[in-house]
Amino acid sequence: VEVVRCEHSFSSRYHTHEELGKGRFGTVFKCTKVATGQKRAAKIVRCIKAKDREQVYEEIDIMNSLRHPKLLQLEAAFETARDIILVTEYVTGGELFERVVADDFTLTERDCILFMRQICEGVLYMHSQNIVHLDLKPENIMCRTRTSHHIKLIDFGLAKRLEGDEPVRVLFGTPEFVPPEVISYEPISVASDMWSVGVICYVLLSGLSPFMGDNDAETFANTTRADFDFDDEAFDAISQDAKDFISALLVQRKEKRLTAAECLTHKWLAHQNKTKQYVTLSTDKLKKFIIRRKWQKTGNAIRALGRMANLSARRNSAAATASSGRPSVCSRLSSLNEEQPLEPAEAADT
Ligand code: ATP
Repeated sequence: VEVVRCEHSFSSRYHTHEELGKGRFGTVFKCTKVATGQKRAAKIVRCIKAKDREQVYEEIDIMNSLRHPKLLQLEAAFETARDIILVTEYVTGGELFERVVADDFTLTERDCILFMRQICEGVLYMHSQNIVHLDLKPENIMCRTRTSHHIKLIDFGLAKRLEGDEPVRVLFGTPEFVPPEVISYEPISVASDMWSVGVICYVLLSGLSPFMGDNDAETFANTTRADFDFDDEAFDAISQDAKDFISALLVQRKEKRLTAAECLTHKWLAHQNKTKQYVTLSTDKLKKFIIRRKWQKTGNAIRALGRMANLSARRNSAAATASSGRPSVCSRLSSLNEEQPLEPAEAADT
């Protein structure tokens, strides 16, 4: 896919409809390809700084090398003076976690096996291309349709291509899902994604977040120590094979974690036990997990606004801001326990 640089190319080729979702970097809209009538998704990323543009170029470059049914496929890309627009296939099934807590879905460990197997297949392909996703989390796993069990991994906005033995360090991610090496700013590798796969699997089976603390500092400390257990009653119904699988991923030293290929041959994922009776898992905790994550996302958006407001206030009148004595939106909200993405800009702010 080549980037088309033209102000009107996108709007003449695609008709835009309702918003499908919003992320940290862009807003996703449903659209129709005029020539064929097919439904597509368009992620519009506002690129004010040259750095933003470079980052989206990298996302396009990475998506161009990822051609696999389990990974969201890029169809076209457009660039205007203000935005870069990524047109991808339209995924109709919604987020995986939303789907499994729906009233018409009965979640069993067997479903979790089917989902985890596909996640590992997508990750295996990505890793075979030397690409590491670095933002694997429930919101980035979608169901292809409302009725099928097929999933798609989305959002390659933070993905990196690993070249040779060049060490790569990153300072971003989502606290609950980041591996210890990101927190300690040590080199990452494809094994960094496998940690997040382990966290996702833990949450899917139990509705609990293995390293979540009362604040980010605690979450990071728990992650660094790889301090988790299966003590909660939610794990009473879960097989030992599943626990072994998670334990082989949530390993502090990345070299010791299962690879995606090893996951697929691990006895939990590899053996089809059609005769085994699987009990229905309670999704009450998973529902609470989803609600909490949504709140965190809102908190982040408002805090980002607060940061922008602060910045312009500082620019316009530093003295007036200082004399008002009122706490900013930003500082008032930071007292809530919201998600704090570990982004370089954020780190510089605090
Ligand atoms: P993040 O903050 O998670 O990094 P982002 O700005 O990079 O987000 P995406 O994660 O790509 O944006 O998309 C945001 C949301 O839009 C998704 O969580 C999903 O609900 C929806 N979405 C994205 N792509 C599609 C698609 N192809 N089809 C349908 N919905 C989509």
